[in-house]
Amino acid sequence: MAIATINPATGETLKTFESLSDTEIAAKLDLAGQAFEHYRKTSFQQRSQWLQKAADILEQEKAEFAKVMTLEMGKTLKAAIAEAEKCALVCRYYAEHAASFLADVAVKTDASKSFVRYQPLGVILAVMPWNFPFWQVFRFAAPALMAGNVGLLKHASNVPQCALAIEDIFLRAGFPSGVFQTLLIGAAKVADLMADDRVKAATLTGSEPAGISLAVAAGKQIKKTVLELGGSDPFIVLESADLTAAVVTATTARMLNNGQSCIAAKRFIVAEAIADKFEKLLLDKFLALKVGDPMQLDTDLGPLATPGILQDLDQQVQAAVKSGGKVLTGGHAISDRPGNYYAPTMIADIPQDSAIAQEEFFGPVALLFRVPDIDAAIKLANSIPFGLGASAWTTNDQECDRLVEEIEAGAVFINGMVKSDPRLPFGGIKRSGYGRELSIQGIHEFVNVKTVWVK
Ligand code: NAP
Repeated sequence: MAIATINPATGETLKTFESLSDTEIAAKLDLAGQAFEHYRKTSFQQRSQWLQKAADILEQEKAEFAKVMTLEMGKTLKAAIAEAEKCALVCRYYAEHAASFLADVAVKTDASKSFVRYQPLGVILAVMPWNFPFWQVFRFAAPALMAGNVGLLKHASNVPQCALAIEDIFLRAGFPSGVFQTLLIGAAKVADLMADDRVKAATLTGSEPAGISLAVAAGKQIKKTVLELGGSDPFIVLESADLTAAVVTATTARMLNNGQSCIAAKRFIVAEAIADKFEKLLLDKFLALKVGDPMQLDTDLGPLATPGILQDLDQQVQAAVKSGGKVLTGGHAISDRPGNYYAPTMIADIPQDSAIAQEEFFGPVALLFRVPDIDAAIKLANSIPFGLGASAWTTNDQECDRLVEEIEAGAVFINGMVKSDPRLPFGGIKRSGYGRELSIQGIHEFVNVKTVWVK
C-alpha cells in the first residue's frame, strides 16, 4: 500500500510519502538503541514532566490534530477532537501513576530481602491501525515511555501525517531525540524489524492476518508481543432492559468512528419478547443519522477510510443477504457523492449458524438476531471466534451475574457501551488477541519483571 494521505470524503490524493530506505531504517534503529541507553536512566519525575507537556500540546492543539485525523481517515471532526483530548488524558494518567505502578514490590521469603523490580525492555515496535490514529499510538506510548522503553511507530500507510505529528509532539514535549520515532514504511518491512536485535518486543493493533504475521516473526526470535485484533462484539438486550437507553447506546455503539471500531457493537442479540419494538426504535435512529462531510460538526456519519474497506463491507452485506438476511435499511454504498460513503445498514434474519454471522463487519452495519432467552443469548454471543468486549442490557441481578460470568470476552459492560478508559485494562481473548493495554496491567506488558533475592 502506498504511503499517502487520500481524503476519504473526496477520494483526492493530497500528499504522498516515500518509504524509508533500508539505510534510513538502520539509522533510526541505531538512534533508538542509543537513546535507550540514557533514557532508561532518567527519573520517573523527568519522564512524567515530558509526558504532561505532551498532554498540554494535545489539549492546546487538538483542533489542528483533529483536522489531520479527519482529513486522512474520515472520522467526524467532533470525534477527532475528543480523540485528541483522550490522548491527553492517557498521558496524564501514566504521568501520575507510572512511578507507583512500577515501584519495587517487597515479598517475604527466606532471603533477608527479596522483591520484584520492574525494568524497561528497550526498543518496542508499535504497528498501529488508522481507525483511532492518535489514540492507538498514545495508549501504547504513554505507558511504554513512562516505563523507560523507547518507541518505534510503524503506523498504517493511510495516516502518515498523523504519524509524523505524533513524533513531533513527543519531541516538542522534550523527550530526547530517538525516544519516540515514526518509521514511514510499508507492512512488508515489519518482519525484518522483528528480526533486528535492537527491537526487543512489539505490539500490534489491527487485523488478524497482520497479527498472525507479526506474531510469527516475533515467535521466531522469541520476542514478546501484545496483539489487539478484531472483534464482532455482541450487544445483548434482555426483556427487562431499559429499552430507550439501550437503543440510544446501540446507535452510538455501532456508528462510532463511522462504524470502524474494534469494540463497536456489531451483533445485536435481542430477546424475542421485545425484538419488534427494539428493531423499530433502532431503525428510527438509523434513519435520523446525518451522513455527510466529516469536517462539519453536525455530521453523525462520515465516509469509510478507504475504497477497499467499502468494497469489503459491501461484499459482506451481499453475502449476508445471500445467506438469508433481510435488509431493513441501507445495504449499499452511497453513490451520489464522491468518497467512501456507505449507508447506515440494518440486516435481520441472518441464520445464526451461517459463516457470515461469524465475521466482523467494519462499517455502519448492524446485524440483528432474535433469541428466546438468556441461555440462547449467551450461546450466540460466544459462538464466534472473537472475544473483545460485550455490552449487555438487563435490570435483573441474576441475569447480570450470568452475563458477567459466562460471556467470553476481554470486557463485559452491563447497561453501558463498551469503551476504553485509561484506568481499566483493555484487550481481548480468543482471536481478538492477547495482552492488555491501559491501567496497571498495560504498563506491565513491556517490562522485565525481575526477581531480586538478597541474603
Ligand atoms: P491492518 O490492515 O491489519 O493494519 C493495521 C496495521 O498493521 C497497519 O499499520 C498495517 O500497515 C499493518 N500491517 C498490515 N499487514 C501487516 C503484516 N502482514 N505484517 C505486519 N504489519 C501489517 O488493519 P486494518 O484492517 O487497517 O484495521 C482494522 C482492524 O483492526 C479491524 O479488524 C479492527 O477490529 C482491528 N482493531 C483492533 C483494535 C483493538 O484494540 N483490538 C483497535 C482498532 C482496530 P499498512 O497500513 O502499511 O498495511
